[in-house]
Amino acid sequence: MLDLVLSATAPDAGISITAAITTDLVREARARHDLAPTATAAVGRLITGAALLGANLKGSERITLQIAGDGPLGALAADAWLPGEDRVAARAYTRHPHVDLPLNANGKFDVAGAIGAGSLQVTKSYEVGQPYVGVVALISGEIAEDLAAYLINSEQIPSVVALGVLANPDGVAAAGGVIAHVLPGADERAIAMLEERALALPPITTLIARGADAHAILHELAGPFELRAHRTMPVHFDCLCNREKVATALLSLGEQQLRAMARESVETEAICDFCTTPYIFLAGDLFALADRLEAQASESS
Ligand SMILES: [Zn+2]
Repeated sequence: MLDLVLSATAPDAGISITAAITTDLVREARARHDLAPTATAAVGRLITGAALLGANLKGSERITLQIAGDGPLGALAADAWLPGEDRVAARAYTRHPHVDLPLNANGKFDVAGAIGAGSLQVTKSYEVGQPYVGVVALISGEIAEDLAAYLINSEQIPSVVALGVLANPDGVAAAGGVIAHVLPGADERAIAMLEERALALPPITTLIARGADAHAILHELAGPFELRAHRTMPVHFDCLCNREKVATALLSLGEQQLRAMARESVETEAICDFCTTPYIFLAGDLFALADRLEAQASESS
């Protein structure tokens, strides 16, 4: 089944719905970062949330979700953007990919235990102007509820968020999610309808275990209400790194440190946090970066 993000509205219910299957996306994140099962569930839910929100971006806008918790996973992040008008790209990383905890009392991945208490920060970068940054305290650390809390508290959009990663012994059997919110200008009835539909929705892992695709998830949430489809886009793992960006990051080490590294080894490997692509810098490259800093320093003095 191809990874897809679908968005639609149910005008009679006053809600809009975006649903996605993200199985390959989560598999790729797992493979690139060598994620343990609990870390896979956490990163998989977060990257699915980013892909769902990313489907409603325009042009060169970008959305970044960052969680900072006091649990063993520490920090995790995911972002999504539109590399073309017709597809969604997303990437994710966690600082501690090998975190694995026993299943919780409900037999589910203990994502809340792995994340702990902390905050969720959402950053929306626009084509022009300052990015919008919203921060909320984590409600549960299960990610879906935290995203819903962000949408209502920070963007004043009553929303329902469900995210799921289904594991098998080889890794990821399936992953997906859905975000529904009331349409702009909708009244109390739409909010009540959204809550009613959310209560009727089976857990997302139950749906995808039954083989539901993004279409089926949309219809499951819409129930008896007629859907008007908006967009269908494939979603895949991608990154925004390149050699120049990594070199710019190396500049922050400072001239002395760069020269010390260049003298210490013939080549230095810098790895992208998000996609784990290695970039090799020879001693001469590092000396050149150090020279650039030195020239900048003498210009400004
Ligand atoms: Zn990268």
